[in-house]
Amino acid sequence: QEDLFKNVVSHAKEYGFIFGSSEIYDGLSAVYDYGQNGAELKKNIKEYWWRSMTQLHQNIVGLDAAILMHPTTWKASGHVDAFNDPLIDNKDSKKRYRADVLVEDHAEKLLQKAEKEIQKAKKRFGEDFDEEMYKETNPRVKRYLGDRKQILERLAKSLTNEDLADVKSLIEELEIACPESGSKNWTDVKQFNLMFGTKLGASADSATQLYLRPETAQGIFVNFLNVQKTGRMKIPFGIAQIGKAFRNEIVARQFIFRMREFEQMEMQFFVRPGQELEWYEKWKEARLNWHRSLGLGEELYRFHDHEKLAHYANAAADIEFDFPFGFKELEGIHSRTDFDLKAHEEHSGKKLRFYDPELKENYVPYVIETSIGLDRMFLAVLSASLKEEDLGEGNTRTVLKLPAVLAPTKAAILPLVKKDGLPELAQKIVDDLKWDFNVQYDEKDAIGRRYRRQDAAGTPLCITVDHDSLEDNSVTVRFRDSMEQKRIPIEELDTLIRKETDF
Ligand code: ATP
Repeated sequence: QEDLFKNVVSHAKEYGFIFGSSEIYDGLSAVYDYGQNGAELKKNIKEYWWRSMTQLHQNIVGLDAAILMHPTTWKASGHVDAFNDPLIDNKDSKKRYRADVLVEDHAEKLLQKAEKEIQKAKKRFGEDFDEEMYKETNPRVKRYLGDRKQILERLAKSLTNEDLADVKSLIEELEIACPESGSKNWTDVKQFNLMFGTKLGASADSATQLYLRPETAQGIFVNFLNVQKTGRMKIPFGIAQIGKAFRNEIVARQFIFRMREFEQMEMQFFVRPGQELEWYEKWKEARLNWHRSLGLGEELYRFHDHEKLAHYANAAADIEFDFPFGFKELEGIHSRTDFDLKAHEEHSGKKLRFYDPELKENYVPYVIETSIGLDRMFLAVLSASLKEEDLGEGNTRTVLKLPAVLAPTKAAILPLVKKDGLPELAQKIVDDLKWDFNVQYDEKDAIGRRYRRQDAAGTPLCITVDHDSLEDNSVTVRFRDSMEQKRIPIEELDTLIRKETDF
């Protein structure tokens, strides 16, 4: 698993997906740039989300709000006072950690131990194995799972009550060691606000303190009435947005999983009070189905229902993904009640209400939010797609089995040799197809090497122009995943590419 993660990181760089930010100056920690293939893949993920939200739902519309907002926004949302992470330093290594993450990692290890035992037993008992029964009766598995549950419950309680001394006690009792040095010598736990500040205005005394938005959601809340009125939207309806968010993360690690500058794809769905939990369940299902539709493998996703709820929520769950470093949050689905709209009413003095013609009554709608990190989604797609395949006789190939709809390049057009009019015909095919698809012309190196290069970049189709093409107006199409080859007329390429790579 660790090897897979290393491979993903180096593959991302080697094939122009992701570079460290300002690398020539040795980079900036937890900030990344997307290269030529990365920018395309990221754009395609956005498109896949955006279309499924706005185009496939008549009652969901888009928004593109600014990153900078009036500072009172963040007072109202609770971010100024409560957007904190509990932080702990190791006295010997002088390294800083999120106290809650240290405990969660410890709990995750217990889960992994339990799962290992279960897998062993499964092999031993074969068909007759009853997993639930085993979990209840095997003393070791029962202890691992029980301990894990207790630890997470205590952590949740301490964090909710802001009992930071207890979080420290928990770390000491569990004898959690600093991952780098193994030292168990910890400081007290302190709260740390994650918002990046900046200043508006030139003069030092009159400058206003602003924040780079830590989430895109608030841009939707403050525009709720603008969109509702001008779009004549009726409840239930949603507003979708994709945009940058910034968090001064303490422990920024695991590549693009946790960044300081990242993108979110969020949708706020406004519903009648009292109907929120019904809609919450619907959106949980809908979002899981969206993920599954990419075909990366159903076993890679699981729900994690929150025991610890944020101050604004009455129900919350994560869709977790099996990243190379284990199951972690990919997307959050939250029932946010009327907390945000009410808070903005209070702080702005403006009404943010909907007149429901059926009920003949004004109310502040309740909100279901679906919130996914675009970069995390990128990492999920990349790590699930990267495969090292054994082709027999000592041959292997590296192939990026991206869902075709997300692939940066849909087809590569390859003249078999660089002479005899083949490049000209290949170029003509490129010129015909480029209006509809992202296609790439490549004539460098032997054909086998070109196939491998396209495999590694995730290109689903390779189209080879050979000498026969000049006679029969046909080309050879090679499919990335099966490596099968098929001869088809040039005029059918458009239909084939569309069929293989469409939304
Ligand atoms: P975490 O617990 O991992 O810090 P969170 O619960 O704070 O995440 P939310 O505030 O619910 O996250 O944000 C919604 C989504 O935004 C997350 O599910 C995640 O995909 C993404 N996200 C949050 N923080 C980051 C980050 N620092 N880098 C990349 N993506 C992020």
